[in-house]
Amino acid sequence: MSHPMSDRDREVQAAARTLADELIPHEVEAEMSGGALPPEVVESHRARARELGLQAMNMPEDLGGGGLTAFQQVLVQEQIGRVTNALGWVVTTPAGWLPEVATEHQLDTWVKPTIRGERHECYAITEENAGSDTDAIEATARREDDGYVLNGVKWHVTSFNLADHVFFQAKLTEGSHAGAPALFIVDVDTPGVRVVRTPEYSHSYADEHPIVAFEDVRVPAANLVGEEGDGMRYAYAWFRYERLMIAARSCGAADRLIDEATAFARDRVAFGRPISDYQAIQFSLADSLTELWAARLMTYRTAQEIDDGEDLKVQHAHCSMAKLYASEMANRVADRAVQIFGGRGYMRENVAERFFRELRVDRIWEGTSEIQRAIIADQLFKRGVGLAEGGPAT
Ligand SMILES: Cc1cc2nc3c(=O)[nH]c(=O)nc-3n(C[C@H](O)[C@H](O)[C@H](O)COP(=O)(O)OP(=O)(O)OC[C@H]3O[C@@H](n4cnc5c(N)ncnc54)[C@H](O)[C@@H]3O)c2cc1C
Repeated sequence: MSHPMSDRDREVQAAARTLADELIPHEVEAEMSGGALPPEVVESHRARARELGLQAMNMPEDLGGGGLTAFQQVLVQEQIGRVTNALGWVVTTPAGWLPEVATEHQLDTWVKPTIRGERHECYAITEENAGSDTDAIEATARREDDGYVLNGVKWHVTSFNLADHVFFQAKLTEGSHAGAPALFIVDVDTPGVRVVRTPEYSHSYADEHPIVAFEDVRVPAANLVGEEGDGMRYAYAWFRYERLMIAARSCGAADRLIDEATAFARDRVAFGRPISDYQAIQFSLADSLTELWAARLMTYRTAQEIDDGEDLKVQHAHCSMAKLYASEMANRVADRAVQIFGGRGYMRENVAERFFRELRVDRIWEGTSEIQRAIIADQLFKRGVGLAEGGPAT
């Protein structure tokens, strides 16, 4: 066991494992159809996630969410990470930072329906000339009457095709916060919102990542999240959360890959012996398992720290470390697994081939590996090497 677990932790983990095991048999069908499954099948998966208590698992119980601890959420995401083609995204995690700052109107209009699974959100921060450098965004929010006029073109807007509202980050053009970012909720059917084009990506997911233009989109002031100028605060909270969950899913993916590659190595005979007899195969799997354990320990420990109320900056650096190490670990494990499967590992019907493509983006989205290193180095120079002991050096 990598971490002490309560009975409730085990129960949550078992529920997520059950769901993952039910989703896995649908992977090849999804892969061959570009990611989509028949709507009634997707609905049955959503219903199953609800039944198992995994819908909106990160949201407060008093709003109808699952109220799981950060550690329990990591346990769930780890299981979800075992599944390819994003079929596990039926386990929803709406914006966990939102209830604290949302108005009653925002809670009733967007937050609670999203928790119930009636509404779906997506995030639009990145632009053609602003990815890692989020401060370079050119999207604008201009005050007009008692609302705002939004303009900008956003890239890679994940799930826009399945969402009904989008979190839109823009810079204010006037007022005391002119030039500072602000975050707005925009219903996707608001006049002026339009898909420019939908590029194809390496993976086969039902969730697309279109380029979306916002042209003179008028929203009431009630759609502003929190205060003017607060935009990045929410983005950081989101990054922290998603980075840790990427680390958890990377661990799940590596777990499945090692498991399947080990089973294959036992069965596959070459030169009269199972390939598991060859040291090259053994060492490849041994390295993978060792690295998985290291990544899992980091991920579990970081989640526990969040539950224990660790300093936010330390949390931020540790989420970056977990994401950096776990995502790169999973990519190495996928590469080794493809090699162990040989020619079969290059077939789309093989789990290693799918993960080999799918895991690549985990080194890019929610901050590239280079950006994670920059965050870690910044905290190292500020806090010292004690950062790797779970707290600041004294
Ligand atoms: C499939 C997919 C889905 C996505 N979904 C969303 C979404 O839903 N919403 C959203 O807003 N965004 C989304 N993104 C955008 C994603 O977060 C960005 O692609 C990512 O942050 C990197 O930005 P960029 O692509 O502009 O690369 P750039 O920032 O242009 O970086 C290019 C290269 O330069 C490196 N680099 C940049 N700055 C530095 C530095 N200071 N030091 C060292 N190296 C540096 C980077 O690491 C990278 O290797 C998605 C991206 C993908 C691929």
